[in-house]
Amino acid sequence: MKKIAVLGSTGSIGTQTLEIVRKEPDLQVVALAAGANVDLMERQVREFKPVLAAMWSEAAAQDLRARLRDLPVRVVCGMEGLLETAVCEESDVLVTAIVGMIGIRPTIAAIEHHKTIALANKETLVTAGHIIMPLAARNNVKILPVDSEHSAIFQSMHGENKERVSKILLTASGGPFRGKTREQLADMKVEDALKHPNWSMGRKVTIDSASLVNKGLEVMEAKWLFDVELEQIQVVVHPQSIIHSAVEYVDGGIMAQLGVPDMKLPIQYALFYPDRRPMDNGRVDFFRLGQLTFEEPDMETFRGLALAYQAGRVGGTMPTVFNAANEKAVALFLQRKIGFLQISELIERSMEQHKVIGHPTVEQILEAEAATYEYIKEKFGE
Ligand code: NDP
Repeated sequence: MKKIAVLGSTGSIGTQTLEIVRKEPDLQVVALAAGANVDLMERQVREFKPVLAAMWSEAAAQDLRARLRDLPVRVVCGMEGLLETAVCEESDVLVTAIVGMIGIRPTIAAIEHHKTIALANKETLVTAGHIIMPLAARNNVKILPVDSEHSAIFQSMHGENKERVSKILLTASGGPFRGKTREQLADMKVEDALKHPNWSMGRKVTIDSASLVNKGLEVMEAKWLFDVELEQIQVVVHPQSIIHSAVEYVDGGIMAQLGVPDMKLPIQYALFYPDRRPMDNGRVDFFRLGQLTFEEPDMETFRGLALAYQAGRVGGTMPTVFNAANEKAVALFLQRKIGFLQISELIERSMEQHKVIGHPTVEQILEAEAATYEYIKEKFGE
């Protein structure tokens, strides 16, 4: 029996994780944490019977506590609640499916308590990879990627000598705006950006896919997870999303992982690693597919990807600024206060005004995040 705790249980990755638990008797949920969705959390606690449930605000926690009076579950809140969830004595694996840099501290705490990490929360590695990866190595803790591309890379490295990797081929669907010009992008509305051709995901990550910022975050995440140089990571646009990513070795051989686009596959893989379990998620049919196609990403039009490489190359607090500026810009776009192209403009301006700190501590990372939020608030009153 594997016992799991989930940060962000009410979100897209969190609910898909619980779908897997529902059909796998070898998995048991012991702790759940979410932000504000008390209704769904109540249903999840009634169904999965964890010993611990966390909500972000005290008010939401009080509400949940009152609703669950008939159950022996402890309800906690705030950062303390997230930390308790992360280190919950009963758990073996922590699924980090929370969104944003708020995932850094709980992930560090879980590693220090020797929990295996099934990592979806890419912001944690993007901004604090230099802290997380050495800490995991020192504590002999596995970080198992949940992101489909990183899971594919991880699977493509099995039994291989890491020293023999020449490059990582990180695939991207290209999102709903693939092939569009900057003039066309200027007119794109929230509804257009939320129509992802292949994947069903949370709103923020769907907008990030449309702008290719998500791919930029994934490039930085891959650098830390697989200990490679940014220059070794090549983004390949592959609109069918069947090849989830690949690794090229020094002899020119390429190992790849393929499958239908369904996040449950990489989530389940991380939960049972190194085992594989059956899954009725459809199968790739090469005859029906006919062809798989590939394109170079257009970094002139999709500036977010170019800026991500730039932030990753500079390092230190710059990836934090990239991520924080994007978070705020996406929120403004979703509120229809800025246009689609302004997302990357805002990221660029935030990066230009930032004074980088190399090898930042967690406090310095969070300060850089707060300073970026403040900068954008001054500009946009948000
Ligand atoms: P969602 O927005 O769907 O879900 C986010 C989750 O985090 C919700 O459960 C939300 O709770 C919770 N949350 C937000 N703020 C807090 C907080 N302060 N305290 C506690 N919980 C909080 O996001 P996704 O599931 O799409 O993404 C989660 C992470 O996984 C992101 O880092 C994303 O980049 C990554 N990822 C997502 C993929 C996908 O397919 N969706 C693919 C690969 C990676 P509530 O709703 O109750 O407020």
